Amino acid sequence: MNLGVYIHIPFCETKCNYCHFVTRPMHGEIAERYCRAVVRELQAFSRDRKRLDIADTIYFGGGTPSVVPGEHIERILETCRTVFAVPGECEITLETNPGSLTEAKIDLYRKIGVNRVSLGAQSFDDEELISIGRDHTGKDIDRTVRLLRSGGIENLNLDLMLGLPGQDSVRWSTDLERLARLLPDHVSVYMLDVHERSPLYHSMAKGRLELPDEDLVADLYLITLERLSALGYEQYEISNFARAGRRSAHNLKYWKREPVLGFGVGSHSYDGVERYANLSKVSDYLQSVEMSGAAVEWRQPLGASQGLQETLFLGLRLNEGLDWSHVRNEFGDLQTASYEATLREMSGRGLLEWKESSVRLTSQGMLLSNEIFSEFV
Ligand code: SF4
Repeated sequence: MNLGVYIHIPFCETKCNYCHFVTRPMHGEIAERYCRAVVRELQAFSRDRKRLDIADTIYFGGGTPSVVPGEHIERILETCRTVFAVPGECEITLETNPGSLTEAKIDLYRKIGVNRVSLGAQSFDDEELISIGRDHTGKDIDRTVRLLRSGGIENLNLDLMLGLPGQDSVRWSTDLERLARLLPDHVSVYMLDVHERSPLYHSMAKGRLELPDEDLVADLYLITLERLSALGYEQYEISNFARAGRRSAHNLKYWKREPVLGFGVGSHSYDGVERYANLSKVSDYLQSVEMSGAAVEWRQPLGASQGLQETLFLGLRLNEGLDWSHVRNEFGDLQTASYEATLREMSGRGLLEWKESSVRLTSQGMLLSNEIFSEFV
């Protein structure tokens, strides 16, 4: 089976107030040292492999990978091409933020093979953007999309967020209309997740900011499904929508439990047998890779019962759902029986839909997906 490769670039210009990802402020020398370490980690990994695996997706995530000099991305990508067999049609995605790209950078990305850009837009509404500490405006999103397209990168994803402070149906519908004018090939719509340690959480606790209530967010999600479908997007996962042929091949690997190997600080990997993760502090990561070529913090082999749980909560995220006869064949009647009873009970409540052996979430089920998935773990 072909692999996906994930490269974590942890640097950002500023820290958004809701962020709980592994990030640190951009610093030229540290970024240079970091990229050398990622190259070293990739090369050390290849020394232990007996064969050249095919990597048909490569994803630069972060952080904001576009804040580091493009030459660093080039060097890492060149190394990937020596460590893996990378076919010409490999999907190579780079995450970026509106306003952080230049023509020269886009030109370099295209030349080195980046063929998909994921833009952390989050909202077109400037007040909402300020409330979550983003350092760009709605107009920057339009400008960046134009810049990318004129620079020859057409395959674009826009991330948007539901549940932002001050969001209501009028503001959200305006966002969707601004999106409609751009019509990117792919849209991801995530719910704002306020982590207890984030500054946003403290602002809320002190009553300075208020989030829209759950019912309103649910309504906004349903408006989104309707509007994006009318615009020609196919919903293929709870939060993801694509125009024909433009699903994210890389992210599909996570939901289908296909191997994705992560490199860089805090990255997670699944090699088909076990899950493992790298150290999550940049200084620890650098020290470990510079000493030994690796920075794995923990490893966990996957037993059958954990494999089944993952199959359920990842597979049900997809609109195509699960083929239950396939799940039963893989994990056996004994292991699957109690889950089947739970799924049938949920189906009776309108959260799931069974058609012959296919089982998938309904729109109502997607809204309650977190509660549903908590039944399986
Ligand atoms: S740009 Fe993304 S990774 Fe960076 S601080 Fe903001 S949310 Fe976090």
